[in-house]
Amino acid sequence: MLYESCPRSLFYRYWQQDHTEASLADDQQGEHMWYSSAGVLIGVAVHAGIASQMQRWAHGESTSRDEAHATAAAKIEAASVSSSQTGRNNQTLDREAVKQTATDHLDRFLSVIWPQLRTGRYITHEEVASFELGDTTVWVRPDLCHRNDEGKFVITDWKTRSPEVFEDLTLQLEVYAMWAQQHFEPDIDRLRLQLGFTGSGELRAQPVSISQLQETRERIQADADRWGDPNDQSAFPVKPAPEKCRSCLYLPSCTDGQDVV
Ligand code: SF4
Repeated sequence: MLYESCPRSLFYRYWQQDHTEASLADDQQGEHMWYSSAGVLIGVAVHAGIASQMQRWAHGESTSRDEAHATAAAKIEAASVSSSQTGRNNQTLDREAVKQTATDHLDRFLSVIWPQLRTGRYITHEEVASFELGDTTVWVRPDLCHRNDEGKFVITDWKTRSPEVFEDLTLQLEVYAMWAQQHFEPDIDRLRLQLGFTGSGELRAQPVSISQLQETRERIQADADRWGDPNDQSAFPVKPAPEKCRSCLYLPSCTDGQDVV
């Protein structure tokens, strides 16, 4: 999706990783992380709160609502939000409002979604993993994997916002399914993919078929061919547009984007 929106932003996102990771590490050392908007920060804070509870599950500990809230609040306290006009400028952030929204999401999650999952057997959460597809290494980081009471391998991804009308959320889960098939559960009928919406408390199953996975496999291979050398910036042309560039995280690095803004 990032590539289709603007190929250059994909280049900045993934292949300037050394630079990005170094600057993130600097920010973290100063306990200061930057986010493009309050909405993104809410997403990060809610994911962190949920991750604290998955960690407790992994260690056989009971759920702690207080810890989930405190983890999310700590993220928000440490955050700055970048101005869409000028890149990394400190924008006024109503921390109390953001904290309240994150707390509401976490409470809904813990009351409605979490009890449906915790009866199963924990397997892994937010672990970076990979699988091979031809010559391509595909990287994944599923939010949660567990075995449910029926013995199915369940992959769940949290969403803090509702999808846009035409937004396709299937690709991400299908790629997770391919990874799970190679490492945990080859039988597609014993795989369950689902999205957990923390805004509404809905757990939405995402059907998957062998033919869908085949289409996605072909798409990954075609994309990998099309992108070519990942270190060659010229293979990732800019696709500037004022609205898009104004909210692009990589605007400070991109002179074409700055021109249209
Ligand atoms: S600022 Fe605009 S042109 Fe540059 S990477 Fe971002 S979206 Fe693409």
